[in-house]
Amino acid sequence: MSRQAEAPATGVNDQVEQGILAFIDEFVALRRDLHTHPELAFEEVRTAGIVAQLLASWGYEVTTGVGGTGVVGTLKRGDGARSIAIRADMDALPIHEATGLPYASETPGVMHACGHDGHTTILLAAARYLAESGRFSGTLNLVFQPAEELGRGARRMLNDGLFERFPSDAVFGLHNWPGEPEGQFGFVDGPAMASIDYARITVTGKGGHGAAPHLAVDPVVASAAIVLALQSVVARSINPLDTAVVTVGSIHGGQAANVIPESVELTLTARAYDKGVRDRIKERITALAEAQAASFGATAAVEYRNGFPPVINHAAETHFARSVAVDAFGPARVAETFTPRTASEDFAYLLQARPGSYLFIGNGDSAPLHSPNYNFNDALLAPAAVYWARLAQAYLS
Ligand code: ZN
Repeated sequence: MSRQAEAPATGVNDQVEQGILAFIDEFVALRRDLHTHPELAFEEVRTAGIVAQLLASWGYEVTTGVGGTGVVGTLKRGDGARSIAIRADMDALPIHEATGLPYASETPGVMHACGHDGHTTILLAAARYLAESGRFSGTLNLVFQPAEELGRGARRMLNDGLFERFPSDAVFGLHNWPGEPEGQFGFVDGPAMASIDYARITVTGKGGHGAAPHLAVDPVVASAAIVLALQSVVARSINPLDTAVVTVGSIHGGQAANVIPESVELTLTARAYDKGVRDRIKERITALAEAQAASFGATAAVEYRNGFPPVINHAAETHFARSVAVDAFGPARVAETFTPRTASEDFAYLLQARPGSYLFIGNGDSAPLHSPNYNFNDALLAPAAVYWARLAQAYLS
C-alpha cells in the first residue's frame, strides 16, 4: 500500500501525539530507506548501524553486537526502580519483491515482506520522543533484535545475557497484521501464537521384488498405516477444548511399480498453544509410528525437533498494554476480541524469560505477510510510536 508522507491523525490530540507528529515525516522516509535496503537474518549490519547511530544521537547508551547484530539502547531517567524492555525485529526475508514501489528493495531476492522495517522505525520514533520529551522515571531498554524469521535471534540475545545485562521487569513487542483494520490494536491474553514442531519419520523394512511381497517387509504399507494412525493424535489424545494440528506434509519412498523399497520417509509439522499439548503430541506421534511399524515387522525412527514455543502472553501485562491503548486512542481503536494466530514468533522465548505481552496492530487491507506484494502501512508509524511512548511512560510512571 502506497501512502503519502504526510502525518496521519492518531485520534487523540495529546502531547505525545503532537510531539511524534512533528517529526514523523523523517521516520516515514527512514522506513522506506530500510525497505529499499533489506538485510537477511544475522546480516542486519547496515540496519543495526543506523539504529545504533540514531539512538546514540538522542542520548541513549548503546550496546551493539548483542546476540550477533542485535542492538540495545538504554535510557535511564529519575530514580525510579522499574525497568521495561520494548523489542522490535530488524530482519528481512529471502523473497523477491514484486510491489513495484518506488522504494522497493534494491537487493534482488531479499525483501521486507513482514514489516520489520516498520517495527524498527516505530520503535525508533518512540525512542526519539522519549529521549527528547519523555516523562518517566526508571530504565528504558529498547531491544532491536536480529533474525526473527529464523527463530534464532531472540535466543541468541538471551544467551548473550540480554536480561542479565539489561535487567527488565517486563517485555513488550508488536506485529502489524494484514487484514485487520488499519491502526486497530489487538490484544490476546494467554496463548497468542502457536508453537511449531517438526518430525521426520524414517520407516525401514526390507526391500524386495514387488511380485514376492512375502519375502520383503514393505515400508510403504507400514507408512500408510502410520499416516492413518496419526490422525488419531488430535482426535483421540488431545482434549477437545485444546487446539492442536498434526499434518503429514510429505511422504517419499520407492522408485518403481515393481520394487518394494527399503525405506520410506515422512515429514510432519505440529502446532499447539500449550506445552502439555505439545508434549503429548510428541509422545503420541513417536509411540504410534513405532508401534505401527513394528506391527508390520518394520521399524520407525522418529527424529523430533522442537521449533518455536507458543507465544504466551501474561495476564497482568496484557491487561496493562490494553489499557494503554484504550487510554490513548479510545475503545473503538481496540479490537474487542482478537483471536490467537497460528503463525509463530520467537518473541515466545522473551516471554519465557520475562512477563510481558505481544500485541498486534492492523495493517489494513494489504497483501498478507511473507507475500512478494506485501508492504508495511506507513499510516501505522505515528499511532504505534505514540503507543510505545505512552506505554513506556505509563510503565515507568
Ligand atoms: Zn514478522
